[in-house]
Amino acid sequence: MEKIKMTIPLVEMDGDEMTRVLWKLIKDELLLPFIDLKTEYYDLGLEYRNQTDDKVTTDSALATKKYGVAVKCATITPNAARVEEYHLKEMWKSPNGTIRAILDGTVFRAPIIVKGIEPYVKNWVKPITIARHAYGDVYKATEMKIPEAGKCELVYTKENGEEIRELIHEFKGAGIVQGMHNLNHSIESFARSCFNFAIDTKQDLWFSSKDTISKKYDHTFKDIFEEIYEKEYKEKFEGLGIEYFYTLIDDAVARVIRSNGGYIWACKNYDGDVMSDMLATAFGSLSMMTSVLVSPDGKYEYEAAHGTVQRHYYKYLKGEETSTNPIATIFAWTGALRKRGELDGNKELMVFADKLEQACIHTVESGKMTKDLAIITTLKEAEALNTEEFIKAVRHTLEASL
Ligand code: NAP
Ligand code: MG
Repeated sequence: MEKIKMTIPLVEMDGDEMTRVLWKLIKDELLLPFIDLKTEYYDLGLEYRNQTDDKVTTDSALATKKYGVAVKCATITPNAARVEEYHLKEMWKSPNGTIRAILDGTVFRAPIIVKGIEPYVKNWVKPITIARHAYGDVYKATEMKIPEAGKCELVYTKENGEEIRELIHEFKGAGIVQGMHNLNHSIESFARSCFNFAIDTKQDLWFSSKDTISKKYDHTFKDIFEEIYEKEYKEKFEGLGIEYFYTLIDDAVARVIRSNGGYIWACKNYDGDVMSDMLATAFGSLSMMTSVLVSPDGKYEYEAAHGTVQRHYYKYLKGEETSTNPIATIFAWTGALRKRGELDGNKELMVFADKLEQACIHTVESGKMTKDLAIITTLKEAEALNTEEFIKAVRHTLEASL
């Protein structure tokens, strides 16, 4: 069989620990034998980030701006223990944070659905994609403990010195206070990323907040979404037969549970943090969650939602057998390859991405899976394979379909 050609490269961001091991296996077994793979390679493994004073992370994000599509392996976000373990010059920032800041994007997370791994909510037959706004609110808040009685105010000082004041509370005793903010520009980017992703994936878009209580703060989110929708997206949505729909966060929660899935749920930063973990768990497994960062100007970075699976890596280093699920990382590759194919008019690449995804799904549905799935599956005859065996089984299924 002749290998599939590529014209424009993908930005490839390698990573850490067990997912770095998976990365190589996936390329060797599932990609390189079938595709004349063209990538611009960036090593985001912690050692090389440290060597380059983390410049490699910035470079990889800039390359994503240039080429439009990236695929990223999970990476370590250093903490004090990692600084010691890797002898780091400093506690480098989270690569995902750095990349997100440069691309100014929104992260969309969606579960991979297979028969035999049943969601806890029986009626969820289609995936629910969650879009989390990744700037501001309580994550960039200033807080104060109020020790005793006193007045607390919000003060805004214009550049010309003029002040606007609002009373927060006349404290009669001790208490707490919090000041948070967001930026219209960031909310607009968030809204556009969501509308574009809905069009891309031809799914309805829901957005929820609490504008009845937060009449200025949350209401501004609602207004910005509404305005951008009416001006820039309404016609396209109607043309595709998809819907934009705003509702209160508590109403959204109730509707999500009753729904069959198959839409995108856009959430403010905190809601998205909480709800994405709820959805991941309710759909069955963290190792089956995909994640894509979409910038408002249409750049895409695909990855798995899980981390570097450190515990498995230490077993791997000791020469012990591992059973690490590569599916979300494979889907990061297929997402990127399909997008590359779409942008370059490369039909073959898109078909290959579909077939590789189907091969993963069919392999699991045939009862061959990694241990994380084997312990929760409803299939009667499930076989728990080790990491390499599972990837070989996917290759076998893939080859039969090509
Ligand atoms: P993790 O890598 O997501 O793994 C947590 C646990 O979830 C694992 O120990 C394993 O459970 C299970 N698991 C996750 N992915 C799996 C897979 N593909 N197959 C089988 N089981 C899987 O989280 P962590 O161990 O807390 O974090 C490790 C490192 O990842 C940290 O340094 C963190 O900074 C980084 N991280 C990176 C990203 C990213 O790059 N996007 C995201 C999150 C975390 P069992 O051990 O019970 O088998
Ligand atoms: Mg969280």
